[in-house]
Amino acid sequence: MNLIGREITILGAGVAGLAAARALAMRGASVRVIEQAPEVTEVGAGLQISPNGGVVLEALGLGKAFEEISTASRGAVLRDYARGAEVLRLDLAKFGRFGLVHRADLIGVLEQGAREAGVRFDLGVHVASVHLNSREPVIFVDGKDPERLPFLIAADGLHSRLRAALSGESTPEFTGHVAWRALLPIEKGSVAPEAHVFMGPGKHLVAYPLRDGTLLNLVGVQERREWAEEGWNHRGDPDTFRKVFSDFGHPVRGWLEQVQDVMVWGLFKHPVATEWYGWNAVLAGDAAHPTLPFLAQGACLGLEDAWVLAHALATHDSVAAALAWYQDIRAPRARRIVDAATSNARNYHLRAAPIRAIAHTGLRMIGQASPDFMVDRFEWLYTHDVTAY
Ligand SMILES: Cc1cc2nc3c(=O)[nH]c(=O)nc-3n(C[C@H](O)[C@H](O)[C@H](O)COP(=O)(O)OP(=O)(O)OC[C@H]3O[C@@H](n4cnc5c(N)ncnc54)[C@H](O)[C@@H]3O)c2cc1C
Repeated sequence: MNLIGREITILGAGVAGLAAARALAMRGASVRVIEQAPEVTEVGAGLQISPNGGVVLEALGLGKAFEEISTASRGAVLRDYARGAEVLRLDLAKFGRFGLVHRADLIGVLEQGAREAGVRFDLGVHVASVHLNSREPVIFVDGKDPERLPFLIAADGLHSRLRAALSGESTPEFTGHVAWRALLPIEKGSVAPEAHVFMGPGKHLVAYPLRDGTLLNLVGVQERREWAEEGWNHRGDPDTFRKVFSDFGHPVRGWLEQVQDVMVWGLFKHPVATEWYGWNAVLAGDAAHPTLPFLAQGACLGLEDAWVLAHALATHDSVAAALAWYQDIRAPRARRIVDAATSNARNYHLRAAPIRAIAHTGLRMIGQASPDFMVDRFEWLYTHDVTAY
């Protein structure tokens, strides 16, 4: 289809929405982004963008800008919680560049990229619902007349209005995990640019540096029966964070002593959507497939979706064929990643000390005897290049 001048509305100015906006505007579409926040901004936290996400930024012409705002990482180091001793080093550099980035910086680059491509923004507009009774989706905004749209991409995250219209409201399942996150100023270069995963009984903590090594991103995950609210902007108590991870030794303990501000939220499991599209309306990003954070892939999946969707629309004769192809391509990959992320939590949280000791010794031995064995298991994930379709 020729996308030149085609009116496309995107709901949500997160990673998926902004990337889709630029990808479509670069193909000549007339793109408008609707966002409920009064400005395009993001919470203070870190993201790891693996090569499968990086290739999309590159194809969007934002590779250089991304390199400038992110810190290159060689991969991940699994560590024991008690003293921080290395259990297994996953040197992932052979798959390409892993970038550690502040979310706000990535959103900034994507927004600027979208604006430069001619995308318009309607900020401070909350869409209460989406209706799909005709060929043109209709959005409802409080205090305004319903608006018919030629084409809608809903990249509106966890509580997507289009997903509700396609499949009804779903009830997510509490996973029994609560997550804590904090940012900490650190002395430049004092923490190696890798994802350090400290594995303890029933909990783990991930730490990696951002912004040229001057800021440390901390995410702690605890198994807990009582749930906290979903969504990651709920303020927590730093002392409780410290108490939960008080059995963790150096260096985690020292970091936690300095935490002054912490967010806490419950992790919920949502199934990957079964219906990704209706007449002239389609889901992208977390709206289609929220994932647990244990594989650091949610934003990367959103980047992949954005590219594939724009490519599908540009290369098929009809919208219906494009959207069917898009779902066929994306749903199996999203399901595989969501499942892999879910099982990672179990591996990190071995509770019984003897089992943990055996498992960690086994991992150390595998790492020494055959370092590529563990790393090659991730080839399907990181070498996937959606820009090669
Ligand atoms: C602790 C944690 C760590 C993570 N780490 C990583 C990582 O290292 N690497 C990685 O790739 N991913 C990571 N993720 C996942 C990643 O953050 C998300 O998957 C990704 O940000 C989702 O992007 P999105 O654009 O689909 O949705 P969102 O970022 O949720 O954006 C949706 C946008 O839509 C707007 N919106 C929603 N509803 C409406 C409405 N009704 N009207 C108007 N606007 C609306 C919202 O305000 C928002 O701006 C992590 C997630 C967590 C929780």
